Parts: sequence; C-alpha cells; structure tokens
Amino acid sequence: MTRVHGIHHITAIGGAPQENLDFYVGVLGLRLVKKSINQDAPDTYHFFFADAEGHPGTDLTFFPWPDMGPGRLGAGVWGEVGFVVPPGSLTWWEEHLRRAGITVGEREVRFGEPVLPFVDPHGMGLSLTETHTYPSFAFTPWEQSSVPAEHQIRALGSVALTVHDESATVDFLGGSFGFTFAGEDTGRRRYVVGDGAGGQRVDITVDPKIHSGAWGVGSVHHVAFRVPDGTAQQTVEEQVLAHRGRSSGVIDRFWFASIYVREPSGALCEVATDGPGFGVDEDMAHLGETLVLPPWYEEHRAKIEAHLTPITLPTPTPAEASR
Ligand code: ZN
Repeated sequence: MTRVHGIHHITAIGGAPQENLDFYVGVLGLRLVKKSINQDAPDTYHFFFADAEGHPGTDLTFFPWPDMGPGRLGAGVWGEVGFVVPPGSLTWWEEHLRRAGITVGEREVRFGEPVLPFVDPHGMGLSLTETHTYPSFAFTPWEQSSVPAEHQIRALGSVALTVHDESATVDFLGGSFGFTFAGEDTGRRRYVVGDGAGGQRVDITVDPKIHSGAWGVGSVHHVAFRVPDGTAQQTVEEQVLAHRGRSSGVIDRFWFASIYVREPSGALCEVATDGPGFGVDEDMAHLGETLVLPPWYEEHRAKIEAHLTPITLPTPTPAEASR
C-alpha cells in the first residue's frame, strides 16, 4: 500500500481575523505565508501560518469566521492540535504564553514526552510537545519571528480525535492512509505512520458516551495528510475508495492538490500533495503580504478587498526575540 507521510496541514475555524493574526504571528511566532480568501466564501479570509518557507507539515490554516458561534468538541470533529518544539523549550513557552494572557494548562507527560496544553484566544485546544524525534522533513526558522529561533515551533506534531468506537476509524486510517497502532498512554491510543515522529501521530480517545461534535469558532475544520505527488495521491484515493467508497476527486488548491474524504466517525480528512508550494505565486521574501486570489476571482479583486475586514500584520518585536 501507499502510506501518507504524516500531517500536511490542519485547517481550523477562528474568530476575528485580527485577533487570529495577532495570536498565531504575534504570540506563537509563526509566519503568515499566505493571505487568501475562502474559495467557497470569498468575503472571508483564509490565513496560512507556517515556518519561514511554508513547508508541508508546518502549516496551520484558518478560516476566521467570528459570526459562526463557538464549536463543540465531540465525536466526528478533530480535537487538540499539537505542535512540536525543541527539547528544553517548554519553560520558555510557559512564561511567554502566560505573559501574553493565554490560558495555559498543567504540564503533562504523554508517551514519555513533556507536553504543555493551552487554549488559543478563540477556544481552540493546542499543545506544545518537546520531542527528540523531529519530523524528517524540512523546517526553516523565521528570522523575523517574535519567538527566538531556538524555541520556535518546528512543525505540527499530532492531532486528537475522540470516537464512540474506534474500530471503523482505525480500519479507515490504517487501510486508506497506512496508520498503525503504536501504543496507549494517558487514555490516548496513538496511531502513527513512518517512524511516528512529530507530525506522524493521530491520538484517538474512545468515549462511548461522548456527544457529537460540531464545527464552530475554535474547532478544527479538517486535517490534511501528505503525499509526495499526484501519483501517490491517486493510489491513496483508490485505497480510500476501497474503504469508504467516497472521495471529492482532485481539487486544485494552487499550492497543492487535494482530495477530501470523511473518516467513519465524520471527521473531515484531506490528502494533499507536497508541491508546488507557497512560492508558486509569490516571492518567498514577501509571502503573505498581499492578498492572493484564485485566478477566476482576480477580476473581482476590488469588490472582494472592499468586503474583507481590514487587518494589519503584527510587527515583529525584536525585544521579545532577544529575550
Ligand atoms: Zn486543507
């Protein structure tokens, strides 16, 4: 079979766009690598936050939809999004987040690694995990980040899912994407691809009584898994069809090509190609500075820009970076 290589990106629903930017760029120190619109709701933004070069595996994207109302964690909706950070970083991060007024949870140990759970300003559950098993893919520190390079987020690490009964979900993740069981700890059953490094982990919790989840502000919209190219994507799609019988077919997202499928409990999955990447339509030195539109919307640019909430990119604070 063809296995996915790990998480490609995760897309979530955020609140007010400026607050979303201020937190993910200003506090978490990620780079806004693409400022675009939701292709199905062109009067709203689509923000892409990542490392300096927008490598697959580092990218958390948002639909800032403040009018939607809060999401509800539960079955059928992806849960906590985990990032990986270098060993020894959590003390710095804990202070940094508290100083920014962020709700930080108690430190935990999961699968032998220190984890700091916290919640973003719009209610989304996040965590930072210190790990020695770095993802095998590329990471480029962002020089203008508000976070010093030695502490910067390296990549997406894991994503959580709570289900009533894991058998169908596990069959799907195994048969379609190649995930295998790696162990259980703190109530989490970890499924991995590759060597189970950061970015190659899905943590499933079984709770027969949990209510159904619902999309809203602060919830994950979908999780995209990586394939190197369209050939691998086609094979994975055939594996998906063999297990679920449904796929969206290939959709061109310009920076990558995607298919979408729901796993059996209802959580939305995407399979995205590594290329061509965020440099395909912008100078890498100026990623995210101008609004990028799909070609068919270009003739409506003035109208679209007039309907979008004005935003200002947080300016890096060298004082913060030097601390
Ligand atoms: Zn996506």
